[in-house]
Amino acid sequence: MSSENKTIKFDALIVGAGIAGGEAALNLANSGYKVLLVEKERSIGGKMILLSKVFPTLDCSACITTPKVSEIARHKNITIFTESEVTDISKTADNDFIAHITKKPRYVHVEDCTACQLCEKACPVSVRDQYQYGLIGRKAAFIPFSIANPKAAAIDIENCTLCGACEKVCPTSCIDFTMETEYFELHAKTVIMASGFSLFDPLEIPRYGYERYKNVITSMQMEREIAPTRPYNTILRPGDGKVPDKIAYVLCVGSRDQTVGNPICSQICCMYSIKQAQLLMGALPMADVTIYYINIRSFGKGFEEFYQQAKGMGVNFVKGKVGKISELENGNLILRYEDISEGVVKEAEHDMVVLSVGAKSNPSVANIFQEGRLKFDPYNFIAQSDLMGSPSKTSIEGVFVAGTATGPMDIPDSILSAGSASSDAISYLIQHETV
Ligand SMILES: Cc1cc2nc3c(=O)[nH]c(=O)nc-3n(C[C@H](O)[C@H](O)[C@H](O)COP(=O)(O)OP(=O)(O)OC[C@H]3O[C@@H](n4cnc5c(N)ncnc54)[C@H](O)[C@@H]3O)c2cc1C
Ligand code: SF4
Ligand code: SF4
Repeated sequence: MSSENKTIKFDALIVGAGIAGGEAALNLANSGYKVLLVEKERSIGGKMILLSKVFPTLDCSACITTPKVSEIARHKNITIFTESEVTDISKTADNDFIAHITKKPRYVHVEDCTACQLCEKACPVSVRDQYQYGLIGRKAAFIPFSIANPKAAAIDIENCTLCGACEKVCPTSCIDFTMETEYFELHAKTVIMASGFSLFDPLEIPRYGYERYKNVITSMQMEREIAPTRPYNTILRPGDGKVPDKIAYVLCVGSRDQTVGNPICSQICCMYSIKQAQLLMGALPMADVTIYYINIRSFGKGFEEFYQQAKGMGVNFVKGKVGKISELENGNLILRYEDISEGVVKEAEHDMVVLSVGAKSNPSVANIFQEGRLKFDPYNFIAQSDLMGSPSKTSIEGVFVAGTATGPMDIPDSILSAGSASSDAISYLIQHETV
């Protein structure tokens, strides 16, 4: 494995290619700056590229994300490193940033791959598909998902048996097991942290039975079930493939909950659950959908109307804190909850339960900057040093933060935040050019 560093130079480094990082990259690139966009996954687009439709407009998420990611990918001023991680960043005395980046091999020459999927069909190894949140399997030779960018195969080397079946069928001979990890030393003048959020792990609340009860799924799994690029051609409960007709949502799973160390509101779960409930009512007109909530926080533009629309469509809203979920022999689930309006404990049976998991900080960026110079807030999101004046500024001059790396927020706010971060980065670059 070659450990030699290749030195590269860009005006700006952006860590994370979700909607916030992508938007910030486009703004800088359209102003003539050279941008390196570093993404740890095999595709750019972050979580948004995997969503179904978006609240409150119900626009198709893929239809918005796909043109945007291809604009980012084709821009002459943007270079993208996927499957790459920034291991450390330091600031020099003359205001340059030096970052070390590790780029893992894909074992496929992306420029020659036609995405024909013949390798996928030939590969004998099946593993859990992380891009479908475990609802189905995928092969060790695989295209991450149908609208991935780059749309090219990748080899999951950890699960690959090196049988060579994929290489034999590849019509362009673009599979290459000799590819090695590459190491880069990047010099940049500014940095934007757009490393996003992580989802609360429902295994931290064992009484909800996630993974023990097959028909308890997360909101991100439901997002995949109702997306146009969905794993099944309809909505199914994973336990037995039955089409559900009594679906429950449990809100605030891992949010506003001191017992799991996360007292803050995730801001998005009420609205994405209301969105999914409306989409389910459309897809399964005979189904009952019930949302168990503590408070519905429909604070944004058009959100209250969206909530009222769901009520009008027949979604049931129960002000109740769910204490426990248990499973019946037929796979149905009993929810034990406190009915807050009546002040009594009740039980209800559903055949599928969706846990509306909260947004947590992304731990992978905690130690990127040396000597702890990048400050974090009490919940480990990147701290804003001038929240009211310049919300994208961080504790390090020249380092800006965009999107959910700074706290939970929805897509429009992530895009606005990326606009603020890129405009601050451009001002910073101009100031330092003229000095
Ligand atoms: C179930 C669900 C449904 C939702 N529905 C809606 C909706 O309908 N409408 C709406 O407005 N919002 C919705 N949201 C919220 C939306 O997903 C977020 O607002 C949006 O994804 C935030 O974008 P981001 O770029 O800040 O973060 P992310 O999407 O998290 O992107 C961050 C990117 O950074 C990468 N990354 C992380 N760490 C590193 C690292 N160390 N190095 C390199 N790359 C890294 C990640 O792989 C990722 O690609 C929903 C969220 C969920 C969970
Ligand atoms: S070499 Fe690996 S990726 Fe290719 S077919 Fe065999 S197991 Fe699958
Ligand atoms: S790696 Fe080869 S076989 Fe696999 S999708 Fe690409 S071109 Fe097709």
